[in-house]
Formats: sequence, structure tokens, C-alpha cells
Amino acid sequence: MKQADVIIIGGGAAGFFTAINAAEKNPELKVIILERGKEVLTKVKVSGGGRCNVTHAEFIPKELTQNYPRGKKELLGPFHTFMTGDTIEWFEKRGVELKIEEDGRMFPVSDSSQTIIDCFLSEAKRLGVEMLLNQSVKEIQKEAYNFIINTTTDTFSAGKIVVATGSNPKIWQLLESLGHTVVPAVPSLFTFNIKDGRIIDLPGLSTDASVKVLDEKGKTVLESSSPLLITHWGMSGPAILKLSAWGARVLEPLKYHFNIEVNWLNTLSEEDALDALKELKSLQGKQTLFKYAQFELPKRLWQSIVKASGIDERITWADATRENLQNLANQLTAAIFEVTGKSTFKEEFVTAGGVDLKEVNFKTFESRVCKNLFFAGEVLNIDAITGGFNFQNAWTGGYLVAQAITK
Ligand SMILES: Cc1cc2nc3c(=O)[nH]c(=O)nc-3n(C[C@H](O)[C@H](O)[C@H](O)COP(=O)(O)OP(=O)(O)OC[C@H]3O[C@@H](n4cnc5c(N)ncnc54)[C@H](O)[C@@H]3O)c2cc1C
Repeated sequence: MKQADVIIIGGGAAGFFTAINAAEKNPELKVIILERGKEVLTKVKVSGGGRCNVTHAEFIPKELTQNYPRGKKELLGPFHTFMTGDTIEWFEKRGVELKIEEDGRMFPVSDSSQTIIDCFLSEAKRLGVEMLLNQSVKEIQKEAYNFIINTTTDTFSAGKIVVATGSNPKIWQLLESLGHTVVPAVPSLFTFNIKDGRIIDLPGLSTDASVKVLDEKGKTVLESSSPLLITHWGMSGPAILKLSAWGARVLEPLKYHFNIEVNWLNTLSEEDALDALKELKSLQGKQTLFKYAQFELPKRLWQSIVKASGIDERITWADATRENLQNLANQLTAAIFEVTGKSTFKEEFVTAGGVDLKEVNFKTFESRVCKNLFFAGEVLNIDAITGGFNFQNAWTGGYLVAQAITK
């Protein structure tokens, strides 16, 4: 049987961040990472399209938590100890400079996830962290002062263990057998499939819009206002991704079949839009309605909306009937689209679900059910929208666990 002070199960982002910080804080500690694969940090490698979106330029803890549909409340405290600014400093201290993109996402200046992997591997080596590959954990037993961990080939023993296995159903089962509650996993962060003549010719077009998810009775159940991107399959962009993440648990029982209402004019009401259209009618009567886009909408979108309102391309503003304008106001501010399924967002498979947050002490990320067992990363029922927030959860959790286990 191999012994260690701390065994970290899972050689991903959270596992490495925990191991390095623990070994740095207490060099006496024997730290082992058990990884089931033949390589570590495989998700980091492919993350952010191979560039690794390490974190996000949001430096106010409360604001940062707004990006976590699950974990919003629980992460506020931990973010006061370790958050985005600390992440930047942590990497900078180790020779990895990060840069901010226009939308706030942060990447290594090298634009390569390998920079992050190289940093982790060299730090782990420098600090004597032992990394064992092909060690798939099959069993965890709790004894009086120790945990016994069985992998496919070996047995290990440690006083403290950190579970950093990401979204992994088998480990969740093991954790259930140790008394934990696991919230079942459902997909989060996806795009909406929509087949509709109004958007079929507009892939690639992006505009600010407000989108509501409606229930069978037409009542609003979710709402978001952000840039919306029309794709070959339907709709994506922050407005849709936010709805998919916040609505992960609402949309799953609907089997991803529901209606959305799009307001292409964002916050403008149908009545106000109608007033604006009437004014346009009185001001530019001679112009054809179809030709020039209004409300700063992209021209192709405007023309598609005009067509969808049943208005002939040759009609001038002066000739537009009250009914024409009413239909147009409706299509502009309350256009209903039928969603018939979902698609993965850029290969980024994020799931909502994991260890129930009520069973975790967020000062230390220790289990409230099983003493000396800690969690870091996606194994918990925490997930975020896209933008570097999922990794930030791994760094924050890993850092706090490291502080707790080296006390
Ligand atoms: C394609 C893609 C791109 C992404 N891009 C970004 C991005 O740019 N920015 C961002 O913030 N987030 C991104 N994410 C999300 C991010 O990768 C995860 O949130 C993050 O990797 C979670 O880290 P983790 O350490 O908790 O889990 P993981 O990275 O999944 O690591 C868990 C590790 O545990 C190991 N393991 C599992 N079971 C066992 C077992 N039984 N025994 C031993 N080892 C085990 C696994 O093999 C794995 O190595 C992306 C996700 C995907 C899929």
C-alpha cells in the first residue's frame, strides 16, 4: 500500500492547482495526484479552442458570482479570498503573462493552452508532487484516521483526500456511497436549434436582443438581454448561452422543445415601437419601407422582419396601413420562434450537476458529510457561463482546499 499525506483524485485543472498550492505552502507534505488517463490536463489542452480561457477580467466578487447559475451564492465568500486578480498574479509570478480580450476573456499571451500545462507540470515537478497515470479510482473507504483508495492496479492510503474528478458519474456514485447527495447532471451551455424562414438566410449576423423563454401558457420563465448570433442551426451568442445555462434545469424536462420570444429592439415595448413606426410614416412617406433599416438594425435583419410582417417590398411608408405597422411592431418586439432542440457550443460540454452544495463548507471546500474529504472544480454542483469562469471556479476551489489541508 502506498502512503501519502494528501491524495488528489483527478489530474485536471482543479487537481493540479490544489496540488501545487498545497506543496508550495507545506513542502513537507507528500502529495500524490492519481489520474485515470494516460495524460493529465487534457481538458486544459483543448480549452478555449486550444488557447485556454484562463479567467475573466471581472474584479468585483459580487459581479463575478453573477456568471454562475449554480454556485452563485456559495462562491461569494471564496472569491473574497482568491479570485480573478489573484489568478493573474499567480500565473504572472510563474512567468505566464495573461492578456485581456475585448469581451473580458483572459488568455495566455502565447495564445496556447500548452503554456498553462507547461507551467503546471514544471511547478509540480519543482515541488515534488507525485503524478501517477493510469490510476482509475474504483473505491474509496473511510477508516478511523485514513482513507483507503483502490485503483485498478494499486492501493493507496492518505489522511486527507481531494476529489477533483470533474463531471464523472462513477465518482459521484462513490461519493454517494460515502453519504453525499449528488444533484443529477443535465447539459448546460448550449445553443438553440431553430428552423425558421425569418433567420434562414442570416447566419453569422449578430445583434443585441432581448430573449424570453416561454412556457406552454406563453408565460415568461427566463429572460436575457445580450448579443444574439444567428447560426446555420438556429441561435447562439451570449443571449442564448446565458438562457441555456440559467435554464439548464428548466429546459431539460421540456426536452429542449419550447418557444422563445425575441425583442430585436431590446427593451423597446411593442406600443413604443408602433409609435416610432407611425412617426417614420409621417416623416419619410415617400421612401419604401423595405429599403432602409431602422432602429439601427442590420439591414438584412430589418428586411427579413419587414417581409415576415407581410409587407410588400414596394410599399412606401405613406402607403403602409395601420395593420402593416402593427404587424411590424409585433415582429420587431415580440417575434415567436420555435426551438426544436439544442447543439453543443464549440465542443464545450458543460454540465450542471454534482455534489450538493449544502454538503460543503465553503470556507475550506471540505465535505460536511465526510471529514478530511475535500472537493475542487466541476465535481461540485457549480457551473458557469462561457468566458473563463469555469476555470476560475477550479482555481478558487483548489486554492482554498490547499490552504485548508496544509493547516
Ligand atoms: C472543449 C472544452 C473547452 C473548454 N474551455 C474552457 C475555457 O476556455 N475556459 C473555462 O473556464 N472553461 C472551459 N471549459 C470548462 C473547463 O474545462 C472545466 O470547467 C474544467 O476543466 C474543470 O476542471 P476539473 O479539474 O474540475 O475537471 P477536469 O478538467 O475534467 O479534470 C478531472 C480529471 O479527473 C480525472 N478523473 C476522472 N475520474 C477519475 C477517476 N475515477 N480516477 C482518477 N482520475 C479521474 C479525469 O481523467 C480528468 O483528468 C471547457 C470545457 C470543454 C469540454
